Amino acid sequence: MNEDIKEILISQEMLSNRVHEMADEINRDYKGKCVFFIGVLKGCFLFLSDLLKDVKLDTNVDFMMVSSYSGNQSSGVVRTLLDLKQSIEGKHVIVVEDIVDSGLTMSYMLKNLKTRNPKSLEICTLLNKPSCRKIKVPIKYAGFEIPEKFVVGYGLDYNELYRNLPYIGVLKESAIEKGKRYDK
Ligand code: 5GP
Repeated sequence: MNEDIKEILISQEMLSNRVHEMADEINRDYKGKCVFFIGVLKGCFLFLSDLLKDVKLDTNVDFMMVSSYSGNQSSGVVRTLLDLKQSIEGKHVIVVEDIVDSGLTMSYMLKNLKTRNPKSLEICTLLNKPSCRKIKVPIKYAGFEIPEKFVVGYGLDYNELYRNLPYIGVLKESAIEKGKRYDK
């Protein structure tokens, strides 16, 4: 285990099993349809790639990057840093996110994407922290409900570190206090 991780919350095996199940649900719900997946960078990258390997539908994939976090504190301000390259008008869209915490990011994205007239628009998140919600967001697919803890791994970072961990872990306070950064 990485020295900065206090506890493994979700193991590699649990992640793999749940991601298979989520893809099965999507395959069932969208049978015969083409689905436009929007990955929310950067946190979604491992989840989305594992999920898509099990999706047996016709798919489009595009990415957005929005920013609301710096370190481990929510700034509450959401900005679009990278927008879609393709139109979603008349498409069945699923937004794939690593984690829904306050809900501010997803709420901003939904509002923005609705104006582009998709045929349907749903949210798929690997992790859900319902106790931290500041604004209600309708989540169709949620992998795991987790407690109010700052987690890293499987795409999620702290100061751009730990995205490569194959599990979801809770960061030690000492790593947060150090404000550890990639500077070696
Ligand atoms: P929200 O806008 O729902 O508060 O937060 C969404 C974004 O905040 C996520 O996409 C993620 O980047 C970041 N975030 C929220 N909670 C955590 C967490 O526990 N760990 C990490 N690494 N990022 C988080």
